[in-house]
Amino acid sequence: MAARSSSGEETPRARAVTGSLFGAEELAAKPKTTAKPNPPRAEPAPPKRAPATVETVRGRFAHVALDRPLSCEFTYGVPAELDRETQPGVRVAVPFGPRREVGVVVARANEATLDPRRTKDVLKVLDSEPVVDASLLELTRWMAERYACSWGQALTALLPAALKRETAGRLVNTIRATPGIGAPELLEIEETYEKQHRLLRTLIELGEPVELRELLQRLNLSDAPARSLERRGWVLIEKIAVVSDGLDGPSTPRERPETLTGPQLAAITALTAPLEERRAAGFLLQGVTGSGKTEVYLRLIERAIELGRGAIVLVPEIALTPQTVGWFRSRFGDVAVLHSRMTDGQRVAAWRRLRRGEARVVVGARSAVFAPVPDLGVIVVDEEHEPSFKQGTSPRYHAREVALRRAELSNAVCVLGSATPSLESWSAARAGRLTRLLLPERVSGNPMPRIGVVDLRGEKAEGGGPVLFSNRLRVLLKAAHERGEQAILFLNRRGFAPVLWCRACSRTVGCKHCDVALTFHRRIGRAVCHTCCEEQVPPRACPTCSAPALRYMGLGSERVEEALRELLPTARVARMDSDTMLRREDYETTLDAFGRGELDVLVGTQMIAKGLDFPRVTVVGVVSADSALHLPDFRAAERTFQLLSQVAGRAGRGTLRGEIVVQTLTPDHPAIRSAAAHDYEGFAAREDALRAELGYPPHGRLVRVVIEDAEEERVMTTAARLAGELREKLEAPLQLLGPAPAPLARVRGRHRHHLLLKAPGEAPALAAAIEQIATFAAQTARPRVTIDVDPVSM
Ligand code: ADP
Ligand code: ZN
Repeated sequence: MAARSSSGEETPRARAVTGSLFGAEELAAKPKTTAKPNPPRAEPAPPKRAPATVETVRGRFAHVALDRPLSCEFTYGVPAELDRETQPGVRVAVPFGPRREVGVVVARANEATLDPRRTKDVLKVLDSEPVVDASLLELTRWMAERYACSWGQALTALLPAALKRETAGRLVNTIRATPGIGAPELLEIEETYEKQHRLLRTLIELGEPVELRELLQRLNLSDAPARSLERRGWVLIEKIAVVSDGLDGPSTPRERPETLTGPQLAAITALTAPLEERRAAGFLLQGVTGSGKTEVYLRLIERAIELGRGAIVLVPEIALTPQTVGWFRSRFGDVAVLHSRMTDGQRVAAWRRLRRGEARVVVGARSAVFAPVPDLGVIVVDEEHEPSFKQGTSPRYHAREVALRRAELSNAVCVLGSATPSLESWSAARAGRLTRLLLPERVSGNPMPRIGVVDLRGEKAEGGGPVLFSNRLRVLLKAAHERGEQAILFLNRRGFAPVLWCRACSRTVGCKHCDVALTFHRRIGRAVCHTCCEEQVPPRACPTCSAPALRYMGLGSERVEEALRELLPTARVARMDSDTMLRREDYETTLDAFGRGELDVLVGTQMIAKGLDFPRVTVVGVVSADSALHLPDFRAAERTFQLLSQVAGRAGRGTLRGEIVVQTLTPDHPAIRSAAAHDYEGFAAREDALRAELGYPPHGRLVRVVIEDAEEERVMTTAARLAGELREKLEAPLQLLGPAPAPLARVRGRHRHHLLLKAPGEAPALAAAIEQIATFAAQTARPRVTIDVDPVSM
């Protein structure tokens, strides 16, 4: 990577790997080749592991990026008959070791330095025209440098899965419970087969076929329990052609307002100027909830389409609903959708429509930032502060950063929108890297709702347990219900009680595989690990001291729902969290019912904090603002501020005045005080100064390295070795913290230690250190070493 970054030349520094006799391991290993003499030229075919006789030869070559963790590309010969088709950006099949792999041609060359006798040829060209255009090639090359992965891995993140294989399968496996299977079967395996039980129970609840792969992923299960259930005849696994993406449902179009507000007009004027001049530009559109940001996006895209250009709209996965998609469809007709839960076939179809210009606008989650939109004019990143824009697996890219870079490469306009911008974007705007546009007021002219902070330390619960609803919240909920108005209750934790605690020995009941406490879920009567999804019948006695003294501690959304039903026996209540909302449709159905006034109160987790717009909601209660505040993460305060502002934005959207109640044990915390005062600027300035003092982002960069394995000894030795090697070369002002056990020190039976590399300000030495870690990681098969550049959570 460093080679590429420092040279900045047009063609990549492809490493001559002479076909693919070298596996990744050999390449990464210490250069054995220099130790042995070259074999005599007369020798026939060289043995597999013989050293290369490298020379510069002329001919037809292609540099191909493969999905391998090495920061180099592989050189292949191009047979005469494939010469014309082998263009940069097409996919090719090539031999790699004993296998045949699919890669992307990143460059052609008519000269290469390699061992001609061992150079392998491209076997097949898979596309008649490039699937990746020049600017996307450039973008992925930048990603490889930025996020410490190989060019091939960055390309892999971009391509729909179906395009990573030679033959695109159109069928997907679906699974459903066999009709008639129910409680008796569940009971039969309840105590013995935890995984099968979990799967079957979920399938019975779903009541319809779902995509097998996705469900297993969500439940953290392998294939095995599904196959066992199939053998019992309790589930049916079938291949079918298409699964609905659930986003085509009916939707109310958004009225196109005749007149824009003054700030909206000013924003549009500022945004369309660079669009018309085909100039790259980055903007931060900061507007309170209900200030009409979406209308600004829509107008900007209208203009782009008039100019014959296309647009990408990124929204957090959770906000990708038929409603959101409908707004865009009602204005722009054929709008493509891209998100992680689509099947391969659907994704490839969306790609095709975009590439052909049949759809000019795509609305999607994180990975839609790579959508092949010809003549891209606009990229919108709505709710840009959302951590879900960061990819959780390698390459760990941040869609916001990629969007800005892509806009630069495509001469497009990038708009980051938020009511509570990330400190990164806020400080980029202050430094002039982004132009800030403000929408300071709600379109409706309604004032922002009043936020009352309630100090829970002054409240007592009747039974002595935790206080769920303060006096004030109880009064407001009752009054709203009597007036026929609606309410939303928010709590960032699902389940009934997050902790099973032993009164005798003070220990909590933890997961067998993870360092976390089990959460009790009352409806299913099981204690569940929220990290690995495994569950068990809650023990009657403490597993540590055997005393029958276990108590349920803490609050979860299930408990809040129960308490609410007691408080308002006549209210129609629904709970929305990932336990109840198994399907996207459930989410829609519940929200629609709430919108039609068929429900009075919604109880839920972050799921209900986002973009909901219900005019009859007059009370919003945050049951506990503290859970996010005490996470071991320097962004905890920022997250809490954002969450509270977002939840607060759900009230008073219509003509009725809204009341927000935030319950907390730390009412004086700056994040809570600023959120209550609707004071984003005050919060940002204070938080920014704090970060500057500590050298944390945005005043510096972080690289996190996680080392994990089932054997802790191995993890510790490797972590210490890596830390030692890094410290030897470490240059000021870089700092290395750790190794230390990660905050989640054990997950799914794997021990995790981490290192944190801190680069205050602009530290040029950072690139070299990242390169050093990447090389170390590529050379280490066990334990697993993963790099997270600019992590968004610890
Ligand atoms: P935000 O995205 O900033 O939260 P929205 O774009 O959802 O705000 O706008 C809030 C509401 O105001 C929506 O119902 C929208 O239709 C309406 N709206 C937006 N702009 C205007 C306008 N110029 N005139 C009248 N209504 C508008
Ligand atoms: Zn677990």
